[in-house]
Amino acid sequence: MKYFCVILALWMLSCSSPKTSQYASVHDEQFVKTLTYLASDQLQGREAGTLGNDKAADYLEDFLILNQVEPYFSSYRDTLSNFESTTSNIVGWIPGRDAKLKKEYFIIGAHYDHIGIVKEIGQIDTIANGANDNASGTAVVTELIRYFAKAKSNKRTLIFVFFTAEEKGLLGAYHFAEKLKSEQAPVVAMLNFEMLGVPMNSEFIAYLTGAKLSNMQDKMNQFANKKLIGSRPHVSLDNLFKQSDNYPFYQKFQIPAHTLSSFDFENYNYYHHVKDEVDQLDLNHLSGFINEIIPVVEQLVNSDSREIKLN
Ligand SMILES: [Zn+2]
Repeated sequence: MKYFCVILALWMLSCSSPKTSQYASVHDEQFVKTLTYLASDQLQGREAGTLGNDKAADYLEDFLILNQVEPYFSSYRDTLSNFESTTSNIVGWIPGRDAKLKKEYFIIGAHYDHIGIVKEIGQIDTIANGANDNASGTAVVTELIRYFAKAKSNKRTLIFVFFTAEEKGLLGAYHFAEKLKSEQAPVVAMLNFEMLGVPMNSEFIAYLTGAKLSNMQDKMNQFANKKLIGSRPHVSLDNLFKQSDNYPFYQKFQIPAHTLSSFDFENYNYYHHVKDEVDQLDLNHLSGFINEIIPVVEQLVNSDSREIKLN
């Protein structure tokens, strides 16, 4: 049944993808594969420190190898020193192509861990699959990696991080941000992807957490040539800025560091729930998001020095 659903979803995507974009028709199959694998029962909810989490890490490491993206450290695995058990961020990088801008690092990330097994009385399914949270954001980042690995168009140096232990209190992000800070890495901005599998009840495709702190949202809309990113006027999503992996980078580096998400607490009933599965997501929305966001991210990472800045 699951395979049938995936095949049906792929067929629907191929029929409804916007004709103007070459990208969608070429790559939809791969992002659905990534999403489906990460959210499968086989990975047991990807809790940091478990075998399922490690399998997800293996998959993402293999993805970087396959796309010929080099490890940022001596290995792809950045093993956490602030967690009781063994778990690793997976980190790759693509050095920039502009003599000056390559000395500025732009971090693109998403957390791949989730909450694992949840014990609820009377519940037959106990695996919190985390399809929306955050196999969706992870799949978006794999598509960005594939794009930049092939296009080789980034003037700035790109660091791609799949964070672990976000669900344990942003531990992977804190560990990685501290490590970069201690080596005085020239990080200028950070963009994180989180819960993007369902559309918002608004005209925008996603919102940026902590949007008022910098000009990144305005720049993204300028680069998209339309109002792509934003939130409804009376929905307060302000607290989310401190609750995802962007925050440690804002704290340590005082740079524009935000999370892009389309989860607004009203559009999805399965947050941290065993039913957070791929068949609950809107794959057309996710595919559309990927298509819209790639050219915007490309312009962001190639923007002039200090063009993206804190307000
Ligand atoms: Zn999350």
